Amino acid sequence: MIIKPKVRGFVCVTTHPAGCKAHIEEEIAYVKAKGPIANGPKRVLVVGASTGYGLSSRIVPTYAWGAQTIGVFFERPSKEERVGTAGWYNSCYFKETATADGYYARNVNGDAFSHDIKKKVADLIEKDWGGVDLIVYSLASPRRKDPDSDTVYQSAIKPIGSPFSGKSINTDKETVIDASIEPATNEEIEGTIKVMGGEDWELWINYLKERGLLAENFKTMAYSYIGPEVTWAIYRKGTIGKAKEDLERAAKAINESTAAINGNAFISVNKAVVSQASAAIPVVPLYNSILLKVMAEQGVDENIVQQIDRLYREHMYGENPPAIPDDLRVRIDDLELGEKVQAEINRIWPIIDSENLHELSGLERYKLEFLKLFGFGYENVDYDADIDVHIEDPDLIE
Ligand code: NAD
Repeated sequence: MIIKPKVRGFVCVTTHPAGCKAHIEEEIAYVKAKGPIANGPKRVLVVGASTGYGLSSRIVPTYAWGAQTIGVFFERPSKEERVGTAGWYNSCYFKETATADGYYARNVNGDAFSHDIKKKVADLIEKDWGGVDLIVYSLASPRRKDPDSDTVYQSAIKPIGSPFSGKSINTDKETVIDASIEPATNEEIEGTIKVMGGEDWELWINYLKERGLLAENFKTMAYSYIGPEVTWAIYRKGTIGKAKEDLERAAKAINESTAAINGNAFISVNKAVVSQASAAIPVVPLYNSILLKVMAEQGVDENIVQQIDRLYREHMYGENPPAIPDDLRVRIDDLELGEKVQAEINRIWPIIDSENLHELSGLERYKLEFLKLFGFGYENVDYDADIDVHIEDPDLIE
């Protein structure tokens, strides 16, 4: 099959397997070039492991200290004549490469919110590891089915209290538009907290604890975003911000409930990056386009794998990692929120419009980064070649 990108709004409905492979190879090469990280734990579970922050959170432990990993994700597998999702190819190629390099890696494809998938993961941990040392919680999902009541909750990206009106971008037409979004209803606020808050993270930890699978001194982190004021109405002070507050509540609760084994839960506050989840948030793609340009110009640009490498290397493991702050927030968004970066964004934000969009933002780079999420835009891939789109994971759990 010859596959070309087909972008529909904030998703690309096609995926290129060879590009996904190139993406995995690029991240692995980065980690190898950075060199080993000392004192990393052996057994790492990543929930939401197939794309974005979760994927890098799996690649770094494998290649920086030889960790064994189990990755959980919810992706559409390929078939003989049908492409799978990018996360499917990422996970298959990661596993194939890691296994060939001598590292243990197992993939679990299914709904992480369900009891069934938690049980399958716990059974695997019990059988192969006996316990787990690090659990990374990196889910981003538009909905969640409560495993007990079967109620399906939807998340919404909306302001709270008053309508939002502000700049956004139409990436198809390459224009700056005015976006207006009505405030969330109580049901939408509650739904977003149910989907993107800490309840499911706690369910994972409680279940693994019940099964006696949490190692002494285990660590667990979930990812959050705070960002600058231009995004607050829609992000920090909106529905998603409420869900992120709930993650912080959950981190405290996990620390209390696992104190006897010295459990260590915290939130890593990450930088805004181009990901499948963030492309769907109004305002954020315009902000990201400007951010990409400004950070590159100031020499502080950082992509996902660079962020996660820094998180592990400087904040969690290595020779002398600093203590986790009392507010349980590890800030790796420090470069994004640096004064010089934000001053430049604040200068650009009020004046950017459709006319000067290309001059004042890194829109071309944003679009390239977006396409790369789906395996397009890699220089070393021949996109005119007829390729086999099907790949299997021989011992996939689903
Ligand atoms: P992403 O869309 O790239 O990845 C989401 C992952 O969750 C995928 O592996 C997907 O398969 C998995 N997933 C979704 N629903 C699932 C389900 N029901 N069962 C099992 N797996 C499921 O997202 P991302 O941008 O990497 O976000 C990950 C986390 O990082 C989120 O908490 C997000 O808020 C946070 N974060 C993102 C940014 C950003 O700019 N992208 C910044 C800071 C923090």
